Amino acid sequence: LYNQVQDLKGNIRVYCRVRPFLPGQPNSLSTVDHIDDGNITITTTSKHGKEGKKSFTFNKIFGPSVTQAEVFADTQPLIRSVLDGYNVCIFAYGQTGSGKTHTMTGPSELTKETLGVNYRALSDLFIISEQRQDVISYDISVQMVEIYNEQVRDLLTPDGVNKKYPFRNYSFLCSLISQKGFNVPDANLVPVTSTSDVLNLMDLGHKNRAVGATAMNERSSRSHSCLTVHVQGRNMTSCTILRGSLHLVDLAGSERADKSEALGDRLKEATHINKSLSALGDVISSLAQKNSHVPYRNSKLTQLLQDSLGGQAKTLMFVHISPELNAVGETLSTLKFAERVSTV
Ligand code: ADP
Ligand code: MG
Repeated sequence: LYNQVQDLKGNIRVYCRVRPFLPGQPNSLSTVDHIDDGNITITTTSKHGKEGKKSFTFNKIFGPSVTQAEVFADTQPLIRSVLDGYNVCIFAYGQTGSGKTHTMTGPSELTKETLGVNYRALSDLFIISEQRQDVISYDISVQMVEIYNEQVRDLLTPDGVNKKYPFRNYSFLCSLISQKGFNVPDANLVPVTSTSDVLNLMDLGHKNRAVGATAMNERSSRSHSCLTVHVQGRNMTSCTILRGSLHLVDLAGSERADKSEALGDRLKEATHINKSLSALGDVISSLAQKNSHVPYRNSKLTQLLQDSLGGQAKTLMFVHISPELNAVGETLSTLKFAERVSTV
């Protein structure tokens, strides 16, 4: 049923979320002129101070006062289709500081109200799988990786280096790999049975991500992080097996590096980020246009997600924008990117 509802809406959707002004920030004017249904209008100002307006249309727009629970409510049906054997990818796109991590994970001080999509998704999968337990027995496992400079790093390792955890359940991993066309990153796959397991692993993942940050500050904004949930369900009467996966991706900041300032490592990072974000844009827009050739091979990210993008898979892109006037250039390029991958 989750699926029938979703099918009517197509396989690619784009939601736009506007971050509120932050506490302590002078409550200046917002570039968002108005939001009405699926339309958002931005106030632009030319070099000569002339004001203009520009409108964009998406599947859904979340204004600055929309809560985490409301955002999740519009994402939940998509996530539940994973339990029916579908592959789902959810991306958070936007410039650094626009609210990507807030949507996916939540703020640094988490409360029940501020929990992001990742945690709510897993908790919902546990609830539904329990409801179905007399009919289908589900196994749920997670992986967490980071892609930095086109290199994939496992985030679920005990001490942040690439040592394998002595994790059980390799039979599950093997059955996933042997399933033709199923792509599993070469990273620890950890079985989870409760939301506290998930919180612990997310915590470990975030700590491991921070390990890289000492060498290069705020690395998290310049790498993609991906939480992958694998679901395997066995129907108790027919003994048929279904498999689904959910990729929850917090993308690197989409801001263009200042060409005059970006040098050395920064320039290298910026080049990798630009390349992989535009490769992702190319893949999704060619899927949206139903092109026969989809250029998956152009980045690590699209290679990693190849089996979960296109075909029967479902994709949701959250594009985030900051309301500040001085962010208007990035806001417009974010919305243009989003428009390119959207099908509305
Ligand atoms: P990004 O991951 O895109 O760099 P963050 O998610 O870290 O951005 O957001 C930047 C700051 O704004 C954080 O302090 C975050 O908690 C806050 N923030 C982002 N979105 C919201 C929101 N919708 N409501 C309240 N605070 C938000
Ligand atoms: Mg972030």
